Amino acid sequence: MKKVEVITQVLNANDLIAEENQAILHNHGVLAVNLMASPGAGKTSLILQTAKSLAGRVRFGVIEGDVASRIDADKVASLDIPVIQINTGGECHLDALTVQKALKGLPLNDINILVIENVGNPICPVEFQLGEKVRVVVASVPEGDDKPYKYPGIFSAVDAVVLNKIDLAPYVDFRLDAMRQGIRTMNPKAEIFELSCRTGDGLSAWAEWLESRWRRQKE
Ligand code: MG
Ligand code: ZN
Repeated sequence: MKKVEVITQVLNANDLIAEENQAILHNHGVLAVNLMASPGAGKTSLILQTAKSLAGRVRFGVIEGDVASRIDADKVASLDIPVIQINTGGECHLDALTVQKALKGLPLNDINILVIENVGNPICPVEFQLGEKVRVVVASVPEGDDKPYKYPGIFSAVDAVVLNKIDLAPYVDFRLDAMRQGIRTMNPKAEIFELSCRTGDGLSAWAEWLESRWRRQKE
């Protein structure tokens, strides 16, 4: 069998399990978000700041995907948010089966929005459906304004782009309008949120959008 055919079969098996996950999540009224980014863009910081910003309004659950360690899961758990750490042991993306196992360990009846923090990698995670309703890519100012052109796969496949660390823009060579143009070129429909997890600037617009996606699903 040629290599291409093997990959196609793996994806089909993954998509079937992703559909099961979607049904499980839907039955519990949970909106799942697949949060993707390069390492260091600020995925975990975004989860922590979003959960703080929506405290008392939305109950979060988190699946943390990392190659190794439970550093990020410990940070999330410190906010009393239910969290499962997945260590992929070298695998550079999460897949639906791994997520399905994690779902069994989460109190889904007590969760409104489940954020699945994918492994830090801007390339292959987007190829693997996990059962999510919302796909988000986090980019950050220090990574440069040409990111959408370098990683068209991920930028074209998401519902929203979060541009983090905007407070650093005056200190690095970054053109905000070039970034916006790149995102629009790859994905005319994506929501764009420019924010700083460090200062809190712009965070509320993002958090309100996410909450509205969950409320819309409930109706
Ligand atoms: Mg992280
Ligand atoms: Zn991968």
